[in-house]
Parts: sequence; C-alpha cells; structure tokens
Amino acid sequence: MDTVDTLSVMPIARKDGTHVLRLCVNQGLLTPDMVRKIMDVMTKYALPSLRATTGQRFNLEGIPSDKVDEIAAALGTPVDKCPPGVSVCPGGDQCKYGMQDTRAMGDALLDLIKANGPYPFKIKSGVSGCAMACGLSFVRDVGLVGGAKGWNVYYGGAANRHACTGIVLGKKVSKAEALESIAKGLTYYKENAKKFERIGAMVRRLGRDVVAAALTE
Ligand code: SF4
Repeated sequence: MDTVDTLSVMPIARKDGTHVLRLCVNQGLLTPDMVRKIMDVMTKYALPSLRATTGQRFNLEGIPSDKVDEIAAALGTPVDKCPPGVSVCPGGDQCKYGMQDTRAMGDALLDLIKANGPYPFKIKSGVSGCAMACGLSFVRDVGLVGGAKGWNVYYGGAANRHACTGIVLGKKVSKAEALESIAKGLTYYKENAKKFERIGAMVRRLGRDVVAAALTE
C-alpha cells in the first residue's frame, strides 16, 4: 500500500494568484497516513479546503504562491505532471451490481499505460464493474466495462464538446484479452496521434471505422 512518502503532488496556478496542489493518488485512495499528513499540513498552513476531482484525485486549495514549494515538500514528492491515473468504481468486491474486480483491473491497466509511455498527450481511463459505468468508462480515452462473461473494451471516448462513447475493441473478453487489445490501442495512439492530441480527438480525425478496423482486424 502507498504511504504518504510516495505521494506525488503537482502545483497548479489559479487565476486568483493562489495555487492548488494536486494530490496524484491512484483510484481515489487515501491511506490513514496520507489523511493524517494532509490534516497536519492544512492545520499548520491554515488551508481552507481539499476538493475531489473528476479523475479521483484531490486538490489542496488556497495555497499562497510563496508557500507552494514548502507545502509540496511537506506532503510528499513535487512533480511537474501527475503520473497517469485510472478512475475506478468499487466493482464486484463492494458493489451489489458489480460483476468484475475493478480494482485489480485498474491496477493492471495503470501498469500497462505506464509501461508503454510516453504518449502524445494525457490518457484518461476508466474501469467499471457493470454497464452503469460509474467509472465513466464509455467516455474515457480507454474504458473497461465488466459484465457476467468478461470485459467490454472502449477506446477513444470523450466527455468534452465532442462527447461520444468509445469505439468497441472487444466484447465479453477475458482480462488478458482486454489488456492485449488496449496495448494495441496504445501503440496505435503513439504511432498515429499528433502531439497534444487525445485518443478521442485522433479517432475523430482519422474516422471511427478506420481506427476500429485497424485495431480489431
Ligand atoms: S458501475 Fe456498476 S459495479 Fe460500478 S459502482 Fe456503478 S453500479 Fe456498482
């Protein structure tokens, strides 16, 4: 399990002159050590709030710009960019609707994404234990949805002004098969995307049918 010593923190400037520190946790997980350290830091520096992000991270808000480095060092390791993270719903272990183990799949997916980088731009991914998709799987760059007979794999979804679900790379496949098709998708992304182009934007530019054919042939 992570300890607070392994917590990465990324400073982000806000337009009111303050900063936030993004706590780059994985799967929204905060250990007791992390919570204790965060509380100590918030108390010591009279920080007003800690806010959850859509990507299952946390922003420590209201940091004076002249204290950013000091507070970042007190929390963990300052980084320029958060490592990739995966949004994961509670899944089969904890949710009555869940049909697959989302936590383990999220860890495996994160390992795969880290092992294959760097990429043209960031990758947001989501893992859900059933089709209600609380892990936002349909609208992530890479999405996995668990079912009774395995995983459905989505690629190139978006939740922006070009909102769409990802193209289907696999249906009712095993964990190994799902990761294999995602690995293929990651390689395709590196070889075909422009710099700073998300997977969804690349799919839109190249055409859903073209990309689907290349990745499912
Ligand atoms: S996606 Fe399904 S398994 Fe996951 S939290 Fe939502 S209802 Fe539960």
